[in-house]
Amino acid sequence: MSRTLTPKIFCRMKTAMALAAACALLMAAPSALQARVVTVAGSTVNVRQGASTDTVAVSKVNLGQIFGCCGAEANWTKIKLENGNLGYIRNDLLMGYDGLQVTGSLVRVRQTPSLSGAILTKIQKGTVLTVLDHQNGWFKVQFPGGVGWVSGEYSKLVSPVVLKSTETSTGAAGNGNALVPGEDAGTSDHSPAESGVAPTTEEISADTGSGILSGKIVVVDPGHSNTSSYGAVDPGTTGVISGIKEKDINLDISLKLRVLLESMGATVIMTHTGETSMTLYDRAAVANDAHADLFISIHSNSAAKQSYAGHTTYFFAPLNNALLAAQRDSRLRAAQTVQAALVKAGGRANLGIKENNYVVIRETVCPSILVEAAFLSNPDEDLLLSSGAYRYRLAQGLANGIRQFLSAS
Ligand SMILES: [Zn+2]
Repeated sequence: MSRTLTPKIFCRMKTAMALAAACALLMAAPSALQARVVTVAGSTVNVRQGASTDTVAVSKVNLGQIFGCCGAEANWTKIKLENGNLGYIRNDLLMGYDGLQVTGSLVRVRQTPSLSGAILTKIQKGTVLTVLDHQNGWFKVQFPGGVGWVSGEYSKLVSPVVLKSTETSTGAAGNGNALVPGEDAGTSDHSPAESGVAPTTEEISADTGSGILSGKIVVVDPGHSNTSSYGAVDPGTTGVISGIKEKDINLDISLKLRVLLESMGATVIMTHTGETSMTLYDRAAVANDAHADLFISIHSNSAAKQSYAGHTTYFFAPLNNALLAAQRDSRLRAAQTVQAALVKAGGRANLGIKENNYVVIRETVCPSILVEAAFLSNPDEDLLLSSGAYRYRLAQGLANGIRQFLSAS
């Protein structure tokens, strides 16, 4: 499942600051869950002039090279090349990231991407920041209080993002940035053996307790998607400020959780990875067919009152259902353990565990929970859920809770 990348390969970029400013403008209104930094996921990949294989290849890039993103169009991501030009790479040949973890003990954040840049602040080891851009081996990050640059020598990309097709063009095409065709214009784009969205395990911090969950099977169910069991598309709720669809948030947290659980040795089965028309019963059946040890369905909450906020975990084990009642202690403990870890990681109000008759946690024959990560209807939590670094924190909390539950059972 995992791919070996070499994040320490950095390109030399002579990008003018003016171009970075232009990119910052283009990034002012990113589409939902669009990565700001990508790594190349194929051995040799064409960079094209436009978002189509019909356009000329302006350059070739290699596995592991890192680029800042300037936009997205259809199924393509627009990147800044080493020479400052812009070009497009197909999404399935890239891995997107929106988090940067500090690996040095106290890492300086500088005003410019250079060792001579003024020091803005120092960041503790292990902290995950939202990553905004990449240039000359430096990452642009958001830190509490501002924006600055962190050296790639003391940080690593974490928090993989699903690079999704944009529903509408960003309008970035034809913005006057002339592209110079390269001398070697290949005719076909390299296709990797695996999907480019498969996250690596390399980005995960070493403190995940490698192997502790070996032999355990966890089914992760990203809530919603294009579920059309009744002929209707079901994206779930929508962010009150961001407009982000719940299905995208749920999927991204789920994929991050998968990487973390796999790094602990678990076998992770996703009920789907984005496009599905499976019913709620189908989702439960995935866990039943796999003889899973735990089923977790991930959702984001919504309420009529914008003030409602916090983390919730649901379980279901009524006394009139012999199978579920026999698991009551175990189901209760799964919900309690994961909820506690979720609250610790997410830092929002603890709304506690609740019992409810949801299909996916009723029809699963193994212990099962449904998590409402936070409220997309609450402006503060909408903004948090819109941050990849925050989604990664939630995934870490869920992984920690699952580890505690499964290693004790
Ligand atoms: Zn939902």
